[in-house]
Amino acid sequence: MKIHEYQAKEILRRYGIPVQPGKIATTPEQAEEIAREFGVPVVVKAQVYVGGRGKAGGVKFGSTPEQTREVAGQILGMDIKGLTVEKVLVTPAIDIAEEYYAGIIMDRASQAPVVMVSRAGGIDIEQVAEETPEKIIKEPIDVRWGLLPWQARDILERAGMPHNVIAKGGAILAALAKAYDGSDATLAEINPLALTKDGQVLAADAKILIDDNALPRQKEYAGWAEPEEANPLEFEAKAEGLTYVKLDGDVGIIGNGAGLVMTTLDMVARSGGKPANFLDIGGGAKAEVMKKALLFVAKDPQVKGILVNIFGGITRGEEVAQGIIMAQNELPLGLPIVARLSGTGEEQGRALLADAGLTWGQDMRDAAQKIVAEIAARG
Ligand code: GDP
Ligand code: MN
Repeated sequence: MKIHEYQAKEILRRYGIPVQPGKIATTPEQAEEIAREFGVPVVVKAQVYVGGRGKAGGVKFGSTPEQTREVAGQILGMDIKGLTVEKVLVTPAIDIAEEYYAGIIMDRASQAPVVMVSRAGGIDIEQVAEETPEKIIKEPIDVRWGLLPWQARDILERAGMPHNVIAKGGAILAALAKAYDGSDATLAEINPLALTKDGQVLAADAKILIDDNALPRQKEYAGWAEPEEANPLEFEAKAEGLTYVKLDGDVGIIGNGAGLVMTTLDMVARSGGKPANFLDIGGGAKAEVMKKALLFVAKDPQVKGILVNIFGGITRGEEVAQGIIMAQNELPLGLPIVARLSGTGEEQGRALLADAGLTWGQDMRDAAQKIVAEIAARG
């Protein structure tokens, strides 16, 4: 589950990590009021569930209360990576000398939470990881005793932190590990961990992801959920009665039966593609449902092609084929679609697709390879 920066900072505060005070505004006037209360300069920060707000214009300084109202007015309502800004965090600005990265992430390969620290913070850590991986120090945490204070200091030392940062930073890193554990997080990240010109070390930004499986025992944090904002497509799918999960890739996936859809995801991955979603149309779906599913999957701007994988039983191949054909004039022009129909009605279904000039695969592997190739061919 995603939470906002101001909520993540509230968690960090509870574990003793220094963070600036802050208040939420939903109108420019409130932002101005908060600026008067804290004193200027302040920073006005979009509270949306995405990173890179700074680059997108979602983090701005207010050097007077009036200017704070003005910049808050610019940020509120702004669209950042498809999300509309509905609230801003107003916080006293700090004088930053250096920006570091400190994070803890659940790492499947290590089967443990892994601490990551870099002296090159403030910017995209993915970019640092790709271009200069040597600048990131990583160390798994032994969950039997957690991150010990000396280990935290050692990691900072190895990351080349200045000496005046080691003690304070070590305490913060150890507290971050406790916050991660205590909130059942899968990610807890401070970027930037800021060194101010007067030698303070504090969390100027915070991101925490909470394990959905832990929500029953993290009742307070569960109450912070904003499902519509966290995943607009999934929220809409639920309202339309579709079993849909958003993923990161570009190959839209539709199938009947959860097991078959999962297998299809694997097959696409094995064919060199990246699935964009999971969508199970269930058993006995009619043409209308197939059409609705296709149009829904195509709504995701990341989708560059769709693979339909149907194992006919009570779901009939010709119904599915009709649904695909019906969707054609409402789908984005030229969006590649490959269908694999097997079982009940496969012959009629394939014949219908062939008549309509649509591509079908001999089997699941063939269909997955075809859609991946078609997407690749289009660049
Ligand atoms: P993100 O872009 O979504 O990660 O948002 P951040 O909260 O990390 O802000 C982006 C950048 O704005 C930071 O890396 C800092 O360089 C800058 N920034 C944020 N807050 C302050 C502040 O209080 N003082 C100064 N000087 N810079 C800040
Ligand atoms: Mn940041």
